[in-house]
Amino acid sequence: MGEFEAIGDAVTGGLLARAVEPDAGDASSRGHTHEQSCLNCGTPLIGPFCSTCGQKAHVHRSVRAFFQDFLQNLFNFEGKIWRTLPMLAWHPGEMTRRYIAGERARFISPIALYLFTVFAMFAVLNLTGTFGGHGKNFRDGLRTDIAESQAKLTKLQADRAAAAAAGKDVAEIDRKIANRKEDIADNEKVLTGHAFSGTADDETPSWIRPFVENALNNPDVTSMKVQDAASKYSWLLIPFSVPFMWLLFPFRRRYNTYDHTVFVTYSLSFMMLLVVAGGLLVAAGMPGMASLLFFVPPVHMYRHLKQTYQLGRFSAVMRTMALLTFAFIAAGLFLAAAVAIGAIA
Ligand SMILES: [Zn+2]
Repeated sequence: MGEFEAIGDAVTGGLLARAVEPDAGDASSRGHTHEQSCLNCGTPLIGPFCSTCGQKAHVHRSVRAFFQDFLQNLFNFEGKIWRTLPMLAWHPGEMTRRYIAGERARFISPIALYLFTVFAMFAVLNLTGTFGGHGKNFRDGLRTDIAESQAKLTKLQADRAAAAAAGKDVAEIDRKIANRKEDIADNEKVLTGHAFSGTADDETPSWIRPFVENALNNPDVTSMKVQDAASKYSWLLIPFSVPFMWLLFPFRRRYNTYDHTVFVTYSLSFMMLLVVAGGLLVAAGMPGMASLLFFVPPVHMYRHLKQTYQLGRFSAVMRTMALLTFAFIAAGLFLAAAVAIGAIA
């Protein structure tokens, strides 16, 4: 009996091994599968990929394969993003045109890029504290300003004493002293929150007051909630922007909603990458360089519009101006909505 069981075990064990790893005995191809039809959908295989679902013909069952499944997606993304980002920066219209025309596998899809840039933007702004992260950098900056102003005020007062002793005119120094004192008082008001309390008392409608007071008492929590709302609803910018593109091109039938959506999504992604660049520059102590980035959007929009829609210079300039105006209003409305949702949530 024992012998039969042992044989039986050996047979089933062997069958199991063969079923799991058809070439289990062959050390050189351990863990491979050799299939005549796709393992995912069953379509007969021709070539290294399934002609129906696109899965690889050979899959591996090894620890290495476990990580490769993940890494391949990652490297695929990485390979594409280094192709996509330079094109987005320098030839946005060419990339958008090629993507619309069908070169889809070459570039990161607009929506994937959009989600990636939203994530990158909030990560950078939080890490660098540019977005008032925890309000710490802003308040530290104010304290530094106040300390500097105090030092200058002390020096001015010494100068005034010396000038008065020498019998000189002190009117100019008095004016400077008054200005310094005003600066310090203003900064202290902002620092303590008193600068905003006026709005919560006088003209603010009564139903808003609790929100304003809450925001003043918990600036960190409010900032978090506003960021949360902004990142959660950021995708809304895409459907809001597309109808505006219809208005920009009312008589160009060869561009449809899909084309406009691709354009708008790539454009918004680029603008968010600019914010990322600005945040990094500010964090690196180069706010001057960061402020230069304000000149980039008009140029980028012009080139993007001109190349994507094959426009002449004049019509590209006119449409850029219209799009800039719209973007400015849309960004303002979006921020206001995010702040409102953040304050109420
Ligand atoms: Zn398949």
